Amino acid sequence: MSVKVYGIKKATLKMAMEIAKDNYPHEFAALMRARDGLIIELLFIPGTIGGERSASIPFYMAPVDFSIVGVLHSHPSPNYHPSKADLALFDRYGSVHIIVAYPYNMDSWMAFDRLGNTVDLKVL
Ligand SMILES: [Zn+2]
Repeated sequence: MSVKVYGIKKATLKMAMEIAKDNYPHEFAALMRARDGLIIELLFIPGTIGGERSASIPFYMAPVDFSIVGVLHSHPSPNYHPSKADLALFDRYGSVHIIVAYPYNMDSWMAFDRLGNTVDLKVL
């Protein structure tokens, strides 16, 4: 049932960067949906909170959906390393996570597994 996530669609990543820019200096977060190991879609949950220091997702609002592989969120700084709170979230939910960092271009992001180790995702 769990297919290893190997990549993200370029258009999906670009969309994330645009939304991150729109929300700057606030963070935003969205769930990522994959098909056959490729992330193809972002899902926004009503009530997602964007704050200057952290973005949080009310998981009770999240659909029970095994095509959702993890969370993408933005940082309003060039630092794309996960915070303590991020690591706690990674461990709790999903298998792959993306942090997009300011200035939100195709080089300013990083993917992580649930332990916070970096993961190489292909952009396709
Ligand atoms: Zn974070």
